[in-house]
This record gives sequence, structure tokens and C-alpha cells, in this order.
Amino acid sequence: MSRRFERKQNIFRNKDALGESYQPDRIEERDEEIEEYMDALQPVVDGWEPNNIFLYGNTGVGKTAVTDYLMDQLQEDVTDYDDVDLSVISLNCKTLNSSYQVAVELVNKLRPAGGEISSTGYPQQTVFKKLYEELDAIGGTILIILDEVDSIGGRDELLYELPRARANGYLESAKVGVIGISNDFKFREQLDPRVQDTLCERELQFPPYDAPELENILSSRAEVAIAEGAVENGVLNYCAALAARDSGSARQALDLLRLAGEIAENQGDDVIVEDHVETARSRLEQERVEEGMRELTTHGRLALLAVISKAAKEETPCRTRDIYEEYTTLCESSETDTLAQRSLHNHLSDLRMLGILSAHENRSGSRGNYYSYQLDVPFTSAIEAMSDVLRLDGEIQTIREIATMNDVV
Ligand code: ADP
Ligand code: MG
Repeated sequence: MSRRFERKQNIFRNKDALGESYQPDRIEERDEEIEEYMDALQPVVDGWEPNNIFLYGNTGVGKTAVTDYLMDQLQEDVTDYDDVDLSVISLNCKTLNSSYQVAVELVNKLRPAGGEISSTGYPQQTVFKKLYEELDAIGGTILIILDEVDSIGGRDELLYELPRARANGYLESAKVGVIGISNDFKFREQLDPRVQDTLCERELQFPPYDAPELENILSSRAEVAIAEGAVENGVLNYCAALAARDSGSARQALDLLRLAGEIAENQGDDVIVEDHVETARSRLEQERVEEGMRELTTHGRLALLAVISKAAKEETPCRTRDIYEEYTTLCESSETDTLAQRSLHNHLSDLRMLGILSAHENRSGSRGNYYSYQLDVPFTSAIEAMSDVLRLDGEIQTIREIATMNDVV
């Protein structure tokens, strides 16, 4: 058989090092945060009861990476002290949406294979009790890391109970500390005040990275991930600048670099250049928009299409009532019933939350304030994504033509 697969390794040295699961051996640019984090963990080393810690910051700012790094370090360093017996239990809560589910997962993580409990059917307190039994069986100091804990929403009883279990006599030998990590600061505010008091005993915040910080993170990662000489000068700087301007997320910067590398590789180029990054940027942006749009209802999509249409005519930013007019027309051509202007306004707010639209508040004297909206993603990305999800081909074609006429594209 003739060969069809061929190894391509001219761009990447270790592509996995740009992936989701890679754990860097060096953390850049987080010295202050690490110091504060270590300070909060000091009681563990000293053999006292651990602090509960709440760590928050946007996605991609190093919360998980720094936590993993420090836990490895801590586990290694406490082996020097015979009276400290530390266990670290990590759980990502992304797919779990209540305390109950988190408790079940924890119990099952601690039980030997075959002894797992089912994820339904027990009263919550029974599951908590089983959890305390498992924890006591381990004994010593136990740090429980609940990453992306914001996904449990308002069902936060465990965050109240777990840190108090010892004081309430549920735990005899185990000293438990909870480290809650959240991508969403609002989660902290919506926690039951009693939970806030206990869980947020120590609060750490990771701010977004700026461009020079991202560039450092990228170059230290590129050393591992990218082949020698396979990235042109200025490319890391460019990725860093784009990510800094948008989210300040190292994840975003690394994703850009990885996709740019894949694009270069697919085109048979030996070096990643800015053009590849540019292509990567627009593809990632389009993916984000598409993802956001998949979640939208029909009217959400029509609302967005109305703004796209205004953009095609170079009439954005524009206010709700003008968008409403456009929206009504679109509803008619797709034979959909029209919502009231007020509901359209809610859809526009949602689109704004998704980062697809941006809004400016305008003051108009006695008549109060009003918002005007515009696309927050490139016109072409929006319209490409739209074509995939809506069966309004004729309309989209027209909008595209108007856009071409106005030089929007
Ligand atoms: P978060 O948990 O805040 O969403 P992560 O810790 O997952 O963010 O970081 C996203 C990506 O960026 C990971 O690949 C991580 O290794 C990397 N990263 C983030 N911050 C740093 C840093 N300070 N130094 C090195 N790599 C980092
Ligand atoms: Mg994380």
C-alpha cells in the first residue's frame, strides 16, 4: 500500500504543550499571587487546621495552573515534617451543578473502584455523611480543591457544611480545608453570607494578564512547544497583544499560537508568521460567535441579524428602536411572529453578554438614557456564522451585497 500519512513535525516540537492538559513546570508573572497563596497555605505546613481559600479571576489567568503547581510543591515540601500527613483531592465541578453532585463525586473519588454510590436517590445529608466517613478514614490534613465551583450556582450547602464539619463534630481525625476556584466573581456575591464567611476566609484574586506578561508566558511555552526557528520575530508579541486586548487570558494567547502553528503546518510553511495568526484569530473568533449563536433562540438570531444588517448599511452603532424596525422586516421575510420592542431589548442584552455585540450608553437629557449597539466581532465572522445557523439565505445574501456595496466587508 502506498503511504498516505506522513509525519509533519517542522513547526511543533511538542504540540501537547499548547493543549488544555499540559502542566508547565514554570509559572511566569505570578510572583505576588503565589506569595499570597503560599501565605494562605502556611497553616498546612505548620500542622494547624488549613484555611479555606476562595480564588477567583477570569478564565485563562492561571488559577488552575498555579494551584496545581503549588499543590505539587506543597505535597513535596511537607514530606519533611513527620507530623503532617497531607492529602489533596481535586475536583473540577464544570459538569456538576449542585452541592449534592459534588459530594457524590467526592465520595466516589475516595472510595475504591466498585464501591461507588449512585448519583441519585440518597438524601443530601446522607451523602455528606458518607463523605465525612471517607475523609475521616484518610485522616490528617486534607485539602479539597473545587475548581470551577461557580457551576454549582445557588446550591452551595456543601460549601457551608464542609469547612464546619470538624467544628460541628462530624469529623474526628481529618482537618479539612476547601479551596474554591471560580471564573466568576459574581458567584462570591451570590453565596449565602454564612458560606462567604467560611469559604472566603482567605480571598485571592488573579487579574487578567497584560501584553508583556502574556508575551513572557508565550515565549516560555514556545520553547517547549515550537521547533527552533519556527516562529518569526514579532509573532508572539502579536498573539500577546491580541489576547491582552480581548481577555487577558493566557489560554486565548496559547490557542492563537497553536492554531496559527497548525495553519502554517497545513500550508506547508516552516515558520509561523503574523498572517497565520491573523487567520487563526478570525477562525477562533468565528468559533466563539458560532458557539454563542448556537445557544440563541430564533428571535435572538433575528435580533443579531438585524444588527448585522444595520452594520452592512454602515448604520451602527444604532439604537434599539432602529434595530427593531430592521428586526420586524426580517421577521416578516422569515414568516416569524414579531416580539415587542421590550423583548427585543432583552435579546440585545443577551448578545452583549455573549460578547457578540457591544453597547454604549447615550444620555439624551430629559428623555433619559438609551443604548446604542454595534457588532463586537468582525462583520465577516458574524455573517459566516449566521449563514450556518439560519435558514434565511436570501436575506443573508442581500445583507452581504449591501455590505459589499458599502465596503463593509
Ligand atoms: P484558569 O484556570 O484561570 O482558567 P489556567 O490555569 O487553565 O487558567 O491557564 C490557562 C493556560 O495558560 C494553561 O495552559 C496554563 O498552563 C497557562 N498559564 C496561565 N498562567 C500561566 C503562567 N503564569 N505561567 C505559565 N503558564 C500559564
Ligand atoms: Mg481553570
